[in-house]
Amino acid sequence: MLEMSHRSKPVQGMIESAEEDIRKLAGIPDNYHILFLQGGASLQFSMVPMNLLTPDGKADHIVTGNFARLALQDAQKIGDIRVAGSTEERNFDRVPNQDELHLDPEADYVHFTGNNTIYGTEWPTEPDVGSVPLVADLSSNIFSKPIDVTRYGLIYAGAQKNLGAAGVTLVMIRDDLLSRSPESLPVMLNYNTHCKGHSAYNTPPVFSIYILGLVVKWLAEQGGLEHMELLNEDKARLLYDELDSSEFYRGHALPENRSRMNVTFRLPSPELETQFANESTAEGLVELKGHRSVGGIRASIYNAFPREGVEALVSFMKEFERTHG
Ligand SMILES: *Cc1c(COP(=O)(O)O)cnc(C)c1O
Repeated sequence: MLEMSHRSKPVQGMIESAEEDIRKLAGIPDNYHILFLQGGASLQFSMVPMNLLTPDGKADHIVTGNFARLALQDAQKIGDIRVAGSTEERNFDRVPNQDELHLDPEADYVHFTGNNTIYGTEWPTEPDVGSVPLVADLSSNIFSKPIDVTRYGLIYAGAQKNLGAAGVTLVMIRDDLLSRSPESLPVMLNYNTHCKGHSAYNTPPVFSIYILGLVVKWLAEQGGLEHMELLNEDKARLLYDELDSSEFYRGHALPENRSRMNVTFRLPSPELETQFANESTAEGLVELKGHRSVGGIRASIYNAFPREGVEALVSFMKEFERTHG
């Protein structure tokens, strides 16, 4: 794959099978295009408004974390974007309730972030936005459970958390939205270019798409998205049960919006948190230091993370509490 032209039959066939496998895995209907783009989820923060805002149109964003805020900031450079809901004043310990949203029925779309990686919160279900197209950044929880794609106008996700290696961003867009893209857009920033070019208008990230295709096959072999949901709920429950049964550890996210992908928690003092991060690293439990905006500890347990790893962390937590609590 690394040596062949992206116009060669094997590479084109590989891209087509990755797309086919995604359709089968997640039940994506034919009126959705599946695109493999570059620029990360972060490029979608501006590409979405560039393509989906109508002339003089406006859109609603729901702000539930760091990436949601970045998406808002970039979109506001493109057009009239309002905040329809935010939990920033609570340091994003949950997502808004439906009755806290101020949605504009005339909006071109509503943007939300399905899972908030840094804060460890997740939407249990999509917000209800009526007939306004729903746009979602699902970078950190895509394909961790079944998804009803027909509820969305557009979904995007950087591949590196739940779908494989960095370098490719999965975009799924309902075809009626494609007519909104203005002719004036630079060619690479127009979704239509990539639909017409079957994700190979220019050289695509062939190797990252290849890995993504393998991951999608692996997800199907595990038993599909229904089975992934059971596995992911089971893994997350092990950690949340430990938090709930302890006075020593304190979860950041409110129970009703806890993420199954990122489990965030605090210890009684910053000194103990540093000690926890250092000692766990020495035990081979790495990358547990939380993001500075929450502090504490964050365990990221994406699709590929095994139950055994979670069990090892829970044992470490018990032992750490016994010796330092
Ligand atoms: C990681 C992440 C991003 C950033 O993705 P890039 O591909 O690095 O641009 C955006 N949104 C969410 C929800 C993420 O978890």
